Amino acid sequence: MTDLIHTRRELAAATAAVPEVAVVMTMGALHEGHRQLMRAARERSAFVVVTIFVNPLQFGPSEDFEKYPRTLEADLEACRDEGVSVVFAPSRDEVYPGGPPQITMNAGPLGDILEGASRPGHFAGMLTVVEKLLLLTRADVAYFGEKDFQQLALIRRMVQDLELDVEIAGVPTVREPDGLALSSRNRYLSADERRSAAALSRALREGAAQGDAEAALAVAQKILDDEPGVRLDYLALTGPDLGPVPESGPARLLVAARVGSTRLIDNVPLQLTKGR
Ligand code: AMP
Repeated sequence: MTDLIHTRRELAAATAAVPEVAVVMTMGALHEGHRQLMRAARERSAFVVVTIFVNPLQFGPSEDFEKYPRTLEADLEACRDEGVSVVFAPSRDEVYPGGPPQITMNAGPLGDILEGASRPGHFAGMLTVVEKLLLLTRADVAYFGEKDFQQLALIRRMVQDLELDVEIAGVPTVREPDGLALSSRNRYLSADERRSAAALSRALREGAAQGDAEAALAVAQKILDDEPGVRLDYLALTGPDLGPVPESGPARLLVAARVGSTRLIDNVPLQLTKGR
């Protein structure tokens, strides 16, 4: 039985006597990617909380906060299927009872690059709500997707720097058969745009198959340049923790682009080999 609750008081009551609380934070419009997170949580913990909250703080003024898909009934069904204990779907006032917060997280230098450069304030807003939801749910372990790789890195860093007593678990990206990373925003894509969007994961996959940094970027860039429906925001190669590119060993290839008016992001791991 999955309980749907809306208030922090109900949440406190539901989690009070629970020995280990596992949490999956979402903005709803749940898909197979979210469900994979729930399964990972369920595998380890008997008590799983899914939060559904479209956090206004992490949307820029010209972003899709108003039109972001809200599908609570279907979301609840998905959570029931996955054996989730509690769905916490709070109102804005429940999360921010004092109105828009004056004191928020500072995402630091890692929050200013890549997504942070394109979406000023996004990570401060994201970290602020994640920290709040970690406390409200009394999370012992929280699951996040590698799909949002910079988000995952920042949350890990916040937990480390602020010494929060919670374990953060990363879950690999779930993809469509043609490689497109599942995203709640994919439903904005027209049929033509959907075809163009496949170029993102194709570029990452073929780039990642190259052994050296230059070739990885060049191969990925060419695939993106050849797809007229894709307007590239960034293509970046970094170390595995988003730091400088290592000479060899694990690295990360990341992309963000607009397809029509929809902004999509994706990333993959890769192994760089020294010399050729
Ligand atoms: P969102 O609802 O988009 O805020 O995402 C909620 C959580 O689901 C985040 O931890 C995301 O990284 C994760 N997530 C979203 N899409 C995927 C995916 N395709 N595969 C794995 N995790 C995902």
